[in-house]
Amino acid sequence: MTPRERLYCLIDRKRQACGLTPADIPVEPMALAAREGEALVIQLRPFSRRGLGGVLHKGPVSLITLNDRRGPEEMRFSLAHELIHYWCDDGRAAKAFSEWRANEGAAELLVPRAVFVPLAAGEALARRGGLRDLEGDAPWLTRAAALFGVTGAVVKYRLRSLGEDILFSISAVQAAPDVV
Ligand SMILES: [Zn+2]
Repeated sequence: MTPRERLYCLIDRKRQACGLTPADIPVEPMALAAREGEALVIQLRPFSRRGLGGVLHKGPVSLITLNDRRGPEEMRFSLAHELIHYWCDDGRAAKAFSEWRANEGAAELLVPRAVFVPLAAGEALARRGGLRDLEGDAPWLTRAAALFGVTGAVVKYRLRSLGEDILFSISAVQAAPDVV
């Protein structure tokens, strides 16, 4: 199993524990945080730097502090990102891998592959364009972002990180014989 598949399995289990399926969008990461009970406290504070989304302090009671100078979509992504750190980090992974995992996991939690791949493949097929065509289409990015409750940047990230899955889905449809 690849690191990505292992991560997606973990997120599936966390979703199921909240009675959610990938089709339940937009996802509210606060509901997943609440399931951690008293072991995890979430607080909002205005950070001096707007660019910083959140910080996790792990301990007997862990604390995620979110920067409330950011917009609601950014804060939801930051909470999802810190939740992945909370669930996965054990101090052994290299920093770059831990950050990739937190971003990829937050993206999967908020923009599930099972929903996004058919959506993007269907759109690319309908317009007979490629993925670059979707990446450059600001109105489509805005519509997709609103559907998942994320920023357009997260949708772009998803188009790139799931590019192979989307292309495979397109080619599977194109290879299917026409039904008359
Ligand atoms: Zn991080």
